[in-house]
Amino acid sequence: MENSVLVDALKCPCGSQDSYKNCCKPLHRGEPAKSAVQLMRSRYSAYALSLPDYIIATTHPLSPHHLENKFAWRRAVTNFCRHSSFQKLKIINFWQGEQTATVTFTAYLEQKMKEATFTEKSFFEKIHHRWFYLNGQLSNGEDVDLAKKFPLKVLPLAYYGEEILRKKSQPVTALTSQIKKIIEEMVETMDGSEGIGLAAPQIHHSLKLFVMRKPILTQENQLELGEVKVVINPVLSQPSKEQWVAQEGCLSIPNLTALVQRPKEVTIEYENLQGEKIKERVAGWQARIMMHEYDHLEGIFFIDRLEVEEKLKLEYTLEKLDKTVQKIRTF
Ligand SMILES: [Zn+2]
Ligand SMILES: [Zn+2]
Repeated sequence: MENSVLVDALKCPCGSQDSYKNCCKPLHRGEPAKSAVQLMRSRYSAYALSLPDYIIATTHPLSPHHLENKFAWRRAVTNFCRHSSFQKLKIINFWQGEQTATVTFTAYLEQKMKEATFTEKSFFEKIHHRWFYLNGQLSNGEDVDLAKKFPLKVLPLAYYGEEILRKKSQPVTALTSQIKKIIEEMVETMDGSEGIGLAAPQIHHSLKLFVMRKPILTQENQLELGEVKVVINPVLSQPSKEQWVAQEGCLSIPNLTALVQRPKEVTIEYENLQGEKIKERVAGWQARIMMHEYDHLEGIFFIDRLEVEEKLKLEYTLEKLDKTVQKIRTF
């Protein structure tokens, strides 16, 4: 006999003190979560009860997982459930807006008799009145600082196929408090999505501005994130003749990277958050990120810069992405 009756009467694994039957079960049966926090809890109990299909169904359609191999993903979730013992869930902090939400939680786990507790700051988006899990920033063990690091507000991203990303953006005429708030939330969104740069059109604002983190190249040739730079009304000039090729990705084109050729150096003039005029000669990764973000202000994607043959190879992935975007954006 199945033990489902037994499970129903037990306390819900999400830690609500209620029975599973009255807590997460209706959600696992298809009832929409009323909030991102509730979805977070029901996903935790789905992991604890080994319900990979629920995890898949409540993951954002544009999450890299959905665009990858679904069988491998399902297997990975099943294995994770099988090899973990779920002890406790603690919600540390959350913020919920109209369309987006963030929840920071600690999941207390054991794997193979060893502690495997982790803290995650996760990012949720509402699509067609339902909350979905998009992605998260992970940290080992209990980590209250992950929640404290920034006040959690994030903005919904625009994706490949959405019109705003093809429009030329408008110059910023004054640094109003409204613009400053957008900039602050752009930094949150960039960090929350683990991006290194984010342009205003990517969060549905047709404004000539982008934010980025100064790239620091380690000795192992890894990119680390440095201080925040706010770039308003940028103008590029004098690109170097020397070009170089490197792998680029984009928050608006999930799960796709390609080798892009760009000038090694460029001159950029812009205003910063204090309204000061800045002129810099930038090189390497910093120049690359700035050119990538500048392109967004002109309605250009990095994939537009690929050779025709290269772009053809991506056609299938792009079509799939485009279809998904159309589906989640039409009501
Ligand atoms: Zn529950
Ligand atoms: Zn981009």
